[in-house]
Amino acid sequence: MLGNLKREVLEAAVAAEISGLCVHGTGNFSAIDRESGLVAITPSGLARESLTLEDVPLLDLRGGLAEPGKRGKPSSESRMHIEAYLRRKDVAAVAHTHSPYATALAVLGRTIEPVTFEAVFYGIDVAVVGLFRPGTEELAKAAAEALDGSDVCLLKNHGALVVGASVEETLLKAKHLESVARTYYLALTLGGDAARPIPREELERYGQIPSS
Ligand SMILES: [Zn+2]
Repeated sequence: MLGNLKREVLEAAVAAEISGLCVHGTGNFSAIDRESGLVAITPSGLARESLTLEDVPLLDLRGGLAEPGKRGKPSSESRMHIEAYLRRKDVAAVAHTHSPYATALAVLGRTIEPVTFEAVFYGIDVAVVGLFRPGTEELAKAAAEALDGSDVCLLKNHGALVVGASVEETLLKAKHLESVARTYYLALTLGGDAARPIPREELERYGQIPSS
């Protein structure tokens, strides 16, 4: 079970790097086994392509090291992942990325308006968290609070935080978030204020259609 969790986290981190959601080993990924309360999280300071399962540490929900990785230390944003699991008992995975278009909007302190229907795949709403230094308790608490009403949020001048029911779902939400952010950015560039969101009821109606 925990071996699978480590594998999923490692594969998500590598996939995120390949797809451009993260560069140079930035961002971090985790998954929780709710039964044992243990969290598998990406280590910091190691090249993603060199990671092995033994490098992935396990943390408990107090932030203690239940099983160290063979190399490196747990992600510097471990506290943020743990706060998200404590606050959102319904989620099983957390992804934090510095994906460029979402981060550009985060620099402006501006939400990602749902300008395309893909927004339903991450729950439409994107909260924006204020400016806090990376790796701090303050950031962890503020980000977790922002997840009360949404599965995704932007961290000012920093990046995005995404939660989901599985590692796969969480990574997909992070990809859709970046995709809508990119389209929104392009639409703003072309048309400024004409880049309007899709009306809520249209999005909600679309969201009820099972995907084919
Ligand atoms: Zn970060």
